[in-house]
Amino acid sequence: MASLQIETIACLKDNYAYLVHDAGLCAVVDPSEPEPVTAVLAARGLKLTHILNTHHHWDHTGGNKVLKEMFGAVVVGPDKDRDRIPEIDVGVNEAQGWLFGAHSVRILEVPAHTKGAIAFIFDDAVFTGDTLFAMGCGRLFEGTPAMMHASLAKLMTLPDDTAVYCGHEYTLNNARFALTLEPGNKDLQARMREVEAARANGHPTVPSDIGLEKRTNPFVRTGSSEIRATLKMDKAEAVDVFAEIRRRKDSF
Ligand code: ZN
Ligand code: FE
Repeated sequence: MASLQIETIACLKDNYAYLVHDAGLCAVVDPSEPEPVTAVLAARGLKLTHILNTHHHWDHTGGNKVLKEMFGAVVVGPDKDRDRIPEIDVGVNEAQGWLFGAHSVRILEVPAHTKGAIAFIFDDAVFTGDTLFAMGCGRLFEGTPAMMHASLAKLMTLPDDTAVYCGHEYTLNNARFALTLEPGNKDLQARMREVEAARANGHPTVPSDIGLEKRTNPFVRTGSSEIRATLKMDKAEAVDVFAEIRRRKDSF
């Protein structure tokens, strides 16, 4: 199978949209605003065929209307959130998946940041929106700690080499927070150095991958004895450890 090309497009202050293209098909994931997307399309000589939304928030859907008008692109988003996705044409869910040319795209329903949040899995790449970030996870606007804990666990079932494309450049702050919980984690220390270097040069820190998140993201490391010791929660349930990490991050 031909391989997909993925390009990162910085939008707004710290959002990322992504172009996914192959053989005449070109999708944008989470277009916050139209202009940065149209600039990259023009530079590459590409025509947009699809708009994919991981969730309804304006900073992930703000470009839908203009881009759909310009290109006649088909808008694909969570069926459960049809009413809140601007200009939606195709609602998808975990049971059905979706076809992007020759590529069958899996959908994972990952509620908690929003009730309808989904992740799109293309071959060996996952677009996680505001559910899983590099060393972080989204705020619980419409769900409980248990819901986010389960959604992250679902994402962690993907192969370790799956590339993770998330919705925001929050990585440096997430790394600083992670180190408060797990200062002795060597993988985390090394990743912090890489992230600092990338940001100092103005480079994005995406994509990550699932294996790297398992080694460095505190929100999926509720079993870490160092994190549990920091939180004084040695014997607690994993979901309670997760809830405490999320609570601390909210005010970090
Ligand atoms: Zn959001
Ligand atoms: Fe967002």
